[in-house]
Amino acid sequence: MSDFSLPQAPLQRLDLSWLRHAGIEAAVLRLDLIDPLISGNKWFKLRHHLLQARKADAPGLISLGGNHSNHLHALATAGKRFGFATAGLLRGHPRETPTVQDLRALGMEMHWLGFGGYRNRHEPGFWEPWQARYPGWHCIPEGGGGQAGAQGCGLIVAQCRAQLATLGWTDYDAWWLAAGTGTTLAGMVLEEAGRHVVHGALAVPLDHGVPETVAALAGAHGYQLHDASRGGFARIDDALLAFIADTERQTSMPLEALYTGKALLALRDQVEAGRFVPGTRLVFLHTGGLQGRRGYL
Ligand SMILES: *Cc1c(COP(=O)(O)O)cnc(C)c1O
Repeated sequence: MSDFSLPQAPLQRLDLSWLRHAGIEAAVLRLDLIDPLISGNKWFKLRHHLLQARKADAPGLISLGGNHSNHLHALATAGKRFGFATAGLLRGHPRETPTVQDLRALGMEMHWLGFGGYRNRHEPGFWEPWQARYPGWHCIPEGGGGQAGAQGCGLIVAQCRAQLATLGWTDYDAWWLAAGTGTTLAGMVLEEAGRHVVHGALAVPLDHGVPETVAALAGAHGYQLHDASRGGFARIDDALLAFIADTERQTSMPLEALYTGKALLALRDQVEAGRFVPGTRLVFLHTGGLQGRRGYL
């Protein structure tokens, strides 16, 4: 496992009443099933960071996140599995959540930065004291973003392509996935190189910098972004929870509320509004994140 290779995520048919009514054929690539601990897309985003850290002989990995962070959870798990120490810089004040308990059990050293301290993470010089405290450790941007993060996500497209025949498909028309920073989407856009449109359903409002991040990593073409945030990143409303419950009833596929639930609900709204012609073949990407939902569902 020294190349940090990734398990294959299963590609399954996605059969939902509102897709059937619109004549849309859909599949789902289940990144939530690749590993019981390392959550979904974060594994793909970490791969090139792990390769860089191994190449540099870094003794450890250090990154940032909140107290339900899927990214820190994946990082702590990968560190433990592949022999890197890990340190996490957390937003806010010490709070026990299921995620934080896992991070500790996985051996991650945690530092709580407060809210103001966390806001400074983009300031020049932010990393200096941490690099002094953890010499030679590999620093990973928030959420596993940046070019190294995007690079690993090309494999998501390759995993889908390799399994199309199992559905009796030779091709598909477009991707639909949740976007937070847009890093996963950017990596997929680069890999698709214009062959299929990648639709990003944004978990944050459109004015939070995601279009700029995606443009910087992947250019201007090959994707469309939609606001799926329902008023804000952490906002959860009853219609969303009812939709998640209904989807789980119809498919037995679990969703969480912040990313995958909102993304699929935004797709339903677009399908019902007639955005896709009958006969369209869509691949929904299940980006995982289910560990985080212990905190709020
Ligand atoms: C982090 C995360 C995303 C967003 O990924 P980005 O690369 O930041 O856009 C989507 N879904 C889930 C479940 C996540 O944990």
